[in-house]
Amino acid sequence: MFEDLKEFAKENNVPIIKDEGLEVLLSEINANSYKSVLEIGCAIGYSSIVMAKTYGVDITTIERNSEMYNLAISNISKYNLEDKIEVVFTDALEYVPKRMYDLIFIDAAKAQNIKFFERFEPFLNDGGSIIVDNLDFHGLTEEDPSKLSKNLRSLTRKIREFIEYLKGRDDYNTIFTHKGDGMSISKKK
Ligand code: SAH
Ligand code: MG
Repeated sequence: MFEDLKEFAKENNVPIIKDEGLEVLLSEINANSYKSVLEIGCAIGYSSIVMAKTYGVDITTIERNSEMYNLAISNISKYNLEDKIEVVFTDALEYVPKRMYDLIFIDAAKAQNIKFFERFEPFLNDGGSIIVDNLDFHGLTEEDPSKLSKNLRSLTRKIREFIEYLKGRDDYNTIFTHKGDGMSISKKK
């Protein structure tokens, strides 16, 4: 299942979540019987489609790129999930959610993770989780910074700053995993 989406992503260099990362998301939903998800960074709708198909969760997912947005809309209709997934075409840094969610999945511009976290945490239900993807950033956060281009150096520094920021958030219990491309799972204390 979903091989068409995976194939498309591979051919078009769309950075969809890895199988192992998806397992982290799915097991978090299953273990806590979560019913709703706010996703930041939809791309072609792959992660949303898998979560909605597997556990029937209601999803709001945000995408600012029109090409990605249109692909997501058509993929969601192909999988008959129009009633489960709402795609909002906007910049997440300008979006104000209209409801509360059990799970917030942050998977958008990697330098903006602190902003996304602070913007959306007020919309997390009690007992909910915030999961952030790509904290290993293809292994580059562990790389000697002097070996990286200026842009990558700045990006990996931002990701390391975000990891430190999360560690400092004493109001959350955060687990870090190297599964997939590295993820954090934060639960409010
Ligand atoms: N969650 C998807 C992959 C998302 S890739 C999956 O695993 O299947 C990251 C996406 O986030 C890209 O499509 C990019 O356009 C989008 N994005 C990045 N910054 C954003 C922002 N500020 N607001 C909305 N979308 C953003
Ligand atoms: Mg990702």
